[in-house]
Amino acid sequence: MARLLLLPGDGIGPEVLAEARAVLDALALPGLETEEAPFGGAAIDASGTPLPDSARAAALAADAVLMGAVGGPKWAGQPFDARPEAGLLALRSAMGVFANLRPAKLFPALTNASTLKPHVVEGLDILFVRELVGGIYFGAPRGISELPSGEREGVNTQRYTESEIARVADTAFTLARARGGHVTSVDKANVMESGLLWREVVTARQRDAFPDVALAHMLADSCAMELVRNPRQFDVILTDNLFGDLLSDLAAMLTGSLGMLPSAALGAEGMPGLYEPIHGSAPDIAGKGIANPCAAVLSLAMALRHSLGHPEAADRVERAVEAALAAGARTPDLGGTISTREMGAAIVAGLQP
Ligand code: NAD
Repeated sequence: MARLLLLPGDGIGPEVLAEARAVLDALALPGLETEEAPFGGAAIDASGTPLPDSARAAALAADAVLMGAVGGPKWAGQPFDARPEAGLLALRSAMGVFANLRPAKLFPALTNASTLKPHVVEGLDILFVRELVGGIYFGAPRGISELPSGEREGVNTQRYTESEIARVADTAFTLARARGGHVTSVDKANVMESGLLWREVVTARQRDAFPDVALAHMLADSCAMELVRNPRQFDVILTDNLFGDLLSDLAAMLTGSLGMLPSAALGAEGMPGLYEPIHGSAPDIAGKGIANPCAAVLSLAMALRHSLGHPEAADRVERAVEAALAAGARTPDLGGTISTREMGAAIVAGLQP
């Protein structure tokens, strides 16, 4: 029995998760149990906290958590730790998810939605594995202080331990085995000691545990250039928190709309994975029924593949999205006119046995 927890959240979150749920219902997978919990702003309204204890416990007891999105203007004036987004950070931390997976895959029907020329992006299929809980966003010391001269100084610290690097490298190598078998590890080993250690540890993990996976190293600045020059050279890109933040956004936009992009966050073996579209709650279109549900549906596919033991169902869902797009189904963000509901129905109609 596998358990999936749905956290619809705020804004377009419930709208797009309803379509993911419709796809799940149509798959009718045996031995899969789903439940739902309030989260984010919706949970603040209901119980005063963005991550109620019951939702936290349900997440830790599940095999996968599928989230919609959280946040919105209604809660934007609250103190930072009482906002919906604080619930998401608390959830990630409680689940111990250290590897952020962000695929940048171009669906053939959307080749012209990319800002790059079709011959550069056709067939693009990159998986970013970004370290999510270490590096410069978390390193100490940090802060803004006043120097004896009276001038202020801002400090953040990039730091990684060997075990933090090794565990995310292992995730990248394991995933590469099931894809193109190639990892490009991205760092700044030429100017940063933390980058030097990153490179040493990744090299050692490949040599000791993943000799069947090819490994290349690339400097982060070169990688930015190569992603727009020749993005199809990449299979899996492994990188730290900061470079992964920047480079995965860059690559994501090569593929068209924000409404198309899923993500996963994985922790230690046996821990539940957290799956979510990369977009937010889109308050500007919430309630209008026009949000693109593809990112949510593709996040469900990632959950089926990585946490729920249904890789063949994941393939079916991804092929159904491709079929719906090929048949011309387009929400407004993709230049079309159909509703969230109709896009969901088109995906369900594209599900092949
Ligand atoms: P956003 O991603 O919500 O929206 C950016 C733009 O993209 C908007 O114009 C929106 O209409 C459009 N868009 C986003 N998803 C779409 C979809 N599925 N279909 C069609 N169009 C789509 O980012 P934002 O406006 O910067 O943030 C809004 C709120 O969401 C904020 O409160 C922010 O903190 C929150 N947020 C939450 C998450 C999350 O839950 N993981 C992520 C990012 C932002």
